[in-house]
Amino acid sequence: MDRVDVLVIGAGVIGLAIARELAQAGREVVILEGQSAIGTGTSSRNSGVIHAGIYYPTGSNKARWCVEGRHLLYAYAKQRNLTHRRTEKLIVAAAPESGRLEQLFQTGRANGVDDLTMISGEKAQSMEPQLHCDLAIHSPSTGIIDVHDLMLALLGDAQAHGATLALQSRFDCSVWANGRWECEILGQKVACDWLINAAGLDAAAVAGRIEGLGVQHIPKMFFAKGSYARLQGRSPFSRLIYPVPVPGGLGTHLTLDCGGQAQFGPNVRWLDTPSVQQMKTGLIEAFDYAVNADELKDFERDVRHWWPGLPKGALTPGYSGVRPKLSGPGEPAADFMLQGPSVHGRPGLINLFGFESPGLTSCLAIGRAVREIF
Ligand SMILES: Cc1cc2nc3c(=O)[nH]c(=O)nc-3n(C[C@H](O)[C@H](O)[C@H](O)COP(=O)(O)OP(=O)(O)OC[C@H]3O[C@@H](n4cnc5c(N)ncnc54)[C@H](O)[C@@H]3O)c2cc1C
Repeated sequence: MDRVDVLVIGAGVIGLAIARELAQAGREVVILEGQSAIGTGTSSRNSGVIHAGIYYPTGSNKARWCVEGRHLLYAYAKQRNLTHRRTEKLIVAAAPESGRLEQLFQTGRANGVDDLTMISGEKAQSMEPQLHCDLAIHSPSTGIIDVHDLMLALLGDAQAHGATLALQSRFDCSVWANGRWECEILGQKVACDWLINAAGLDAAAVAGRIEGLGVQHIPKMFFAKGSYARLQGRSPFSRLIYPVPVPGGLGTHLTLDCGGQAQFGPNVRWLDTPSVQQMKTGLIEAFDYAVNADELKDFERDVRHWWPGLPKGALTPGYSGVRPKLSGPGEPAADFMLQGPSVHGRPGLINLFGFESPGLTSCLAIGRAVREIF
């Protein structure tokens, strides 16, 4: 039986960042990816925003890793010449929402986002003439990054330090035997000292196939689809524009991709619990990513709150992604869950559950946090 030091399940942006970190620390790493290419899951179905770290409860993993990850990500993007831009961002509010905006501002400051300013509607309008709001938070350190550029760079670094990528290699199950994890992959057996479950949407299903992991350590997962609407033509905004957040998401906001194309979203649509069979065969393919043209009128209505000049019929259906969530409809947002042996009691096993946004921004900090468990 082949034996390796570390097996990372999942070649999304987080699995790749972990693989890079561990390979650079001198570990022998194999990355297992069930699909035929890296990053075809949530990592290629997101907004590509480098978040500042404003929204998350102070002291949470999300807050800490987002702020640390943002600093690391800008430095890495510069060092590796990755396509990215500090676009800046405005979070806009009408007068009745001013209390919630003030709360966000205080949370952001407490999280260590020290460059935020509260500005008047007039000031916001002088920065973005098409904008309509009574007041806003200006975040200069929010930006965007080309996620595929990033993933290729992470993989390149990991491989330069000896890591191997195995595509079309779906992890099936593992048992603890002879002081190591014996894993089954496409009918073949591979043993490893450390097994890292970074399977994104499939993380709970994968954990359920790891022998001896107590069911109390496998959280219930919820899935919320987020669809985007594309703006036809040029964006009149040069910064990212966000309303105050809504339950389950950040509200219908405007982001720009690295080519300058504007899109609105993602909205929040809770999905049915996947079937046992879907969990078995993998969730990337289980979900319907089509964006229905019927949803465009809701986008138009929401966007007109802060961009009354949005031309009629200017939106077309875009793409969508699915958030792996640890809290359901109506519940407060859950934190990222990183479980090592001190949590679940199984040696050499690390699980990552619920890495929705800001997982992309946080990826390098998450890699470090995983290394610290070793
Ligand atoms: C709509 C949306 C917008 C978002 N916007 C942002 C944003 O602007 N900024 C931000 O910071 N974050 C954002 N996020 C969050 C970010 O995209 C995720 O946190 C991040 O991509 C998660 O990466 P991952 O590696 O954990 O998961 P994934 O990218 O899903 O990777 C998991 C991988 O595991 C593989 N896999 C699964 N099961 C197996 C198996 N059994 N064997 C082998 N491989 C397996 C899958 O094929 C997949 O490639 C957004 C998320 C969504 C849904």
